[in-house]
Amino acid sequence: TKYKKGMKKTRNTFSGRINDLIARYRKVDEDFFEELEEVLITADVGVMTVMDLIDELKMEVKRSNIKETAEVKAVISEKMVELYYGEDEEGLEYLNIQEDDLSVLLVVGVNGVGKTTSIGKLAHQLKQQGKNVVLAAGDTFRAGAIEQLEEWGKRADVEVIKQSEGSDPAAVIYDGIQAAKSRKADVLICDTAGRLQNKVNLMKELSKVKRVIEREIPGAPHEVLIALDATTGQNALSQAKTFSEATNVTGIILTKLDGTAKGGIVLAIRQELDIPVKYVGLGEQIEDLQPFDPHAFVYGLFA
Ligand code: GDP
Repeated sequence: TKYKKGMKKTRNTFSGRINDLIARYRKVDEDFFEELEEVLITADVGVMTVMDLIDELKMEVKRSNIKETAEVKAVISEKMVELYYGEDEEGLEYLNIQEDDLSVLLVVGVNGVGKTTSIGKLAHQLKQQGKNVVLAAGDTFRAGAIEQLEEWGKRADVEVIKQSEGSDPAAVIYDGIQAAKSRKADVLICDTAGRLQNKVNLMKELSKVKRVIEREIPGAPHEVLIALDATTGQNALSQAKTFSEATNVTGIILTKLDGTAKGGIVLAIRQELDIPVKYVGLGEQIEDLQPFDPHAFVYGLFA
């Protein structure tokens, strides 16, 4: 139901247009597929992904001898879920969290995408699962970033390790690791800067932070999560590519899915980047973060 509510915009536009299409055509033909293609592309599903999807649909329609457009709807959702999973096994992509040891999550992303908010939500969720969580305020560049993280720390009731604005992010993360170790924390979530204006420096900074984490804790970081803003469409894709070049991104937090009618971007991201979407942001409140569930997502599109 959180999906249903959070994806209202996408659902209204998307399923409205699909239903309209089905009602207008009734019989499955080439024009129907062409219009369907357009609806999917408008929802930011991504041109390549749409092509694959339409091919799959056509094959299925032939195989199952489907004549009525109304019958195609169920096939579309089925194929979308299949497309998301690809060769992988089905199931939710949970965070790689150690059972009895400290897990380090590094969170990256461009300013304004909802990185800090997502860290706050994630801290809250992990805390509710009984984990002892510490945050490290690694965005020492953006004015107000540290205070904002502290604010979220209060809300989630977790400790925030920080230094002053302008200090070395790697030093802050180092402090965070020591604090997390001495408090026997389960999870350390590291915030990082997101000024893409100076890409080279940012990527250097991230590499340095990552090296510190790797040096201090073998096997860490256990996740490098990138926060991407669903409302920015293809920009989100190019941001993910940029960060992937500098660091091995293991998962995506797709924010502001509630703020867009183009939720199809999830499928494009999965297809074009092959990085799993682990969480989606469905609002501004602390509870508005959901593990990404492709079934619930696609159901949310059509419900
Ligand atoms: P950062 O610069 O990446 O750390 O971004 P912030 O965490 O400060 O978020 C930027 C804005 O996006 C804030 O106004 C947040 O409330 C808002 N925001 C973050 N996540 C979501 C979301 O899932 N849905 C909505 N509607 N707004 C969000």
